[in-house]
Amino acid sequence: MQRGHAWDYAGHRMVNLLAIENLPADFPSFVNEAKNRERIAFLGGEADRWRNTPDLPLKHANGPDHFFDIEYLKDYDITFEYLSPFRYTFVQQLGRTKALFPDRSPKIPVEQNRDRTKGLPGFLPWTIMEYYSKVKSACSYLKAFEELGTPEEIENARQNIVYLMGVMGHFAGDASQPLHTTKHYNGWVGDNPHSYTTNRRFHSWIDGGYLKRTGGLDFNKLKRQARKGKKLNTIRGRTDYIFPVIIGFIREQHKLVEPLYRMDKDGKLTGDGAKGRMGKPFLEKQIVASSELLTDLWYTAYKLAPADRYLIARLNERKLNASK
Ligand SMILES: [Zn+2]
Repeated sequence: MQRGHAWDYAGHRMVNLLAIENLPADFPSFVNEAKNRERIAFLGGEADRWRNTPDLPLKHANGPDHFFDIEYLKDYDITFEYLSPFRYTFVQQLGRTKALFPDRSPKIPVEQNRDRTKGLPGFLPWTIMEYYSKVKSACSYLKAFEELGTPEEIENARQNIVYLMGVMGHFAGDASQPLHTTKHYNGWVGDNPHSYTTNRRFHSWIDGGYLKRTGGLDFNKLKRQARKGKKLNTIRGRTDYIFPVIIGFIREQHKLVEPLYRMDKDGKLTGDGAKGRMGKPFLEKQIVASSELLTDLWYTAYKLAPADRYLIARLNERKLNASK
């Protein structure tokens, strides 16, 4: 069975729209043009659209980008403090431990694991990190084209930034869905002393079913809750200092896994009656939290992006040759 999506499209749109809304005033204003706003909102759903593919190589590459099941780190003897910001270093760590302790993880029959992603803890923090750097890189070349490029080059660079911001927003959105940070992603698994739900529809209910039942998300209401974006602290602008921010955020959301299950047990997530709607502010807060993370990351990427020196040199050469 496919893992659930995080927020439905409506939730992901909302994360992206709130994040645009709260960008500080010195962020490039083209993102606020109506067509670009709508495109960034639309792209909030993009990475989930990729998941509907029958193509196994894409399922393999994209599926684990959406989650990070924190409990599994223990099986690999990895602690948060030693997580590398490099994706493939982490993959190597996983492989090494698997080879040393083959009995720790259950054998999964190939028929149940056609895309070979079962048993992976997921790569959500790395995915967000890498998109951050792609946005930053695009801001760097935009700055160079703004100095010496053609109007078409400037427009292409802007459109790339819009695209990358939109897709990145999806993953920032996933990070606040507590069920994307846990092995209990679709009903409680294993020991269950508190008798939490084991319903396999729990995930999709939290993603969207419950929010729909309780009247959907109200942009203006959430706008009032979300704070303005800020530049994240890094040492000398180093990108690897962003990674602990992302990890820290996901760890905080993981702490909400059990409270979410408790709310379900207490009847606050049925969607019916006053009590059944009591879980809604909790989920609204999560949507807002993702949007705040996203605004900060976008804004920091822009602020820390130096104009691309290599490109400026090439553009200067071009200018010189054109004037000969
Ligand atoms: Zn997702």
